[in-house]
Amino acid sequence: MDADHLPEMLARLKLTALRDRLDTLLDEAARRELSLRETLALLCEAEVAHREERRIQMGLGIAKFPFVRTLEGFDFDAQPSLDPKQIRDLAACRWVANGDALLLLGPPGVGKSHLAVALGREAVRHGYSVLFVQATELITALARAHVEGRLEDKLAHYAKAKLLIVDEIGYLPFEPNAAHLFFQLVSRRYERGSMLVTSNRSVSEWGTVFGDPVVATAILDRLLHHSHVITIRGDSYRLREKRRAGLLKTNPAPAVTENTL
Ligand code: ADP
Ligand code: MG
Repeated sequence: MDADHLPEMLARLKLTALRDRLDTLLDEAARRELSLRETLALLCEAEVAHREERRIQMGLGIAKFPFVRTLEGFDFDAQPSLDPKQIRDLAACRWVANGDALLLLGPPGVGKSHLAVALGREAVRHGYSVLFVQATELITALARAHVEGRLEDKLAHYAKAKLLIVDEIGYLPFEPNAAHLFFQLVSRRYERGSMLVTSNRSVSEWGTVFGDPVVATAILDRLLHHSHVITIRGDSYRLREKRRAGLLKTNPAPAVTENTL
């Protein structure tokens, strides 16, 4: 028996994490006086854990989250309008498995994008494909593809992920064709994939946001059919932090100027 080839064989079997940590793991097995069977389990666990970590990192890369935000980093005490139990429940991702929609509504700065990214990361962890996109970026991409005769491809692109996160509907006015384009996307994903949508406007205002009340109703009809709607209230977290630091003494500035702070 020639153990010299072991690293080479492990590489051929694509067990590279195991190859790289072999000496450490064998030392650990010896120290813990593990049986052969237990040692094999320890070695397999190391490889499996490494692959799982790599899968998650790849999924997070593909999702294109604009920043890192986690549920652990969310201060529920600062946001009493949210039920932590409900958010933890959503983090289990059954709604993604079911293809449900999730709407996070509320004024600027209350943590909608934070939760959208955090729940998106949970979905990746649970093995679902996720794509994050800003609403205006999405509409612009669809409109351009439409003009260039590539709408089908673009719709297919945005329909592919099991969970599509569309952030910030309502912050900027959409172009005239936006309602139709968004409707086509929502229809295509309907009852197949999940959507997580954040908006600073209540759904009753979406007619104005999309500039077309009839199509906005059709969009909402599909989105709300199997959906969870969470409305967050309260002050902007950013302004709250500033007030705490003594930088602001008065009440929060109007929402329009909030983003510039
Ligand atoms: P929104 O999307 O509702 O406008 P964001 O999610 O962008 O708000 O929140 C603004 C900033 O405040 C972000 O940096 C976010 O991480 C932080 N934030 C908001 N709410 C909380 C919270 N409850 N706990 C921790 N950080 C928060
Ligand atoms: Mg936001």
